[in-house]
Amino acid sequence: MDRHLVPVKPRLFAERPCPRCGAEGPEALGMVVPGVHMLGDYRCRACGYAFLHDLPVGFAVDHDVAIGREDGTLHDARGAEGWVWGPLLEGFRNPSDRAVRIERRVLRPARRVVLLNTLDFLYGHVLLKLWNAQYYLEAHKDLGLVLIVPRSFAWMVPEGTAEVWEVDLRLGEAHGWYRAIDRYVQERLGEYEEVYLGKGYAHPDKSTIDIERFCGVAPFDMARYDQAPRHITFVLREDRLWYSSRAARTLHRVLRRAGLGGSARPLFTAAQERLARRVLRRVRKRYPDVQATFVGLGDARAERDGVKDLRTRRMTVEVERDWCRAYARSQFVIGVHGSNMLLPTALAGGCIEVLPYDRYRNIVQDVAVRQRDVMQLFLYRFVDEYATPAAVARHAVSMFADHRVFHRNNRINIF
Ligand SMILES: [Zn+2]
Repeated sequence: MDRHLVPVKPRLFAERPCPRCGAEGPEALGMVVPGVHMLGDYRCRACGYAFLHDLPVGFAVDHDVAIGREDGTLHDARGAEGWVWGPLLEGFRNPSDRAVRIERRVLRPARRVVLLNTLDFLYGHVLLKLWNAQYYLEAHKDLGLVLIVPRSFAWMVPEGTAEVWEVDLRLGEAHGWYRAIDRYVQERLGEYEEVYLGKGYAHPDKSTIDIERFCGVAPFDMARYDQAPRHITFVLREDRLWYSSRAARTLHRVLRRAGLGGSARPLFTAAQERLARRVLRRVRKRYPDVQATFVGLGDARAERDGVKDLRTRRMTVEVERDWCRAYARSQFVIGVHGSNMLLPTALAGGCIEVLPYDRYRNIVQDVAVRQRDVMQLFLYRFVDEYATPAAVARHAVSMFADHRVFHRNNRINIF
């Protein structure tokens, strides 16, 4: 049995000791799927305690908890952090009867399936869970892949998927306990002979992801790194900014706390844009032909410095694909750490990332590293939270100027 499959039907995974008396091998009554979490419904054969326990998928691979059916007690034997179980427990105590709309698309009927649940309240988490799909498509061609996705991700469903269940919830709402989602899953489960759950690991190996299969755009062709027109895409998000100094960041924080965040924001986003334009001007002193694109949720400006500004506040599938095509034209992308860097790095050749001090423990979680050898060190660069445009531009110039030799030394003239 593949350890990356969790059996559900005909026999549910039951390697869960009773949280009250510790007896192994509880009676498995069924599965409960209220949204993000997928729980086994168990009853202890020794003491009769009825409990729900996370099945080992998504963040519950390592952070599984159990909840007593009757007493509502949380059993957190593995010391999961509050952000994992807090919303779950809250949802269990206050389930929602909201009529969540789910649209099913059957692309390739199957009776034996892997169910991969990508629902999550954070954009990056959904994307990373979705990238797990490729493993099941390749390693288990005899099983149909059934994807549960937030509707806004439906455009990225990979070729070869058997079924898509599009859930009409905003990401911020995904953490609830929705009886409608559970009912829907129960009805569907009856239709299959054999059901497994896909793992939904939070950090799948990105170097093996065939990103074109997901977003329909071929990634930057590394074989043409030195010949392709020089292009940089700047990923400019407004909710996490590149600041010129600690003082600027502190000032922004003070203004936000004073309730002036709304009126202060344009000043700070404009400052971030100035930093990006200064990088570009410096790089162009060495390479006047460099083209650039801006993307991000924000307001596009009139064209200046020959920058193609694709920023918008209205996301559509066409915008998503336009941004993807910009990344795929770029030797590298430049932006601040965050899930906003996942898709750009999956498609571009590399990146320069501004890494805030409070994100060091999350380093590279947001970067889809396409290389598996020392080329990583050349192509993926992390700079100080308050890096100057000059510092970023030095890296950018080097990534254009030094690639040919670095590549030859480390890819060609070696054993
Ligand atoms: Zn027991």
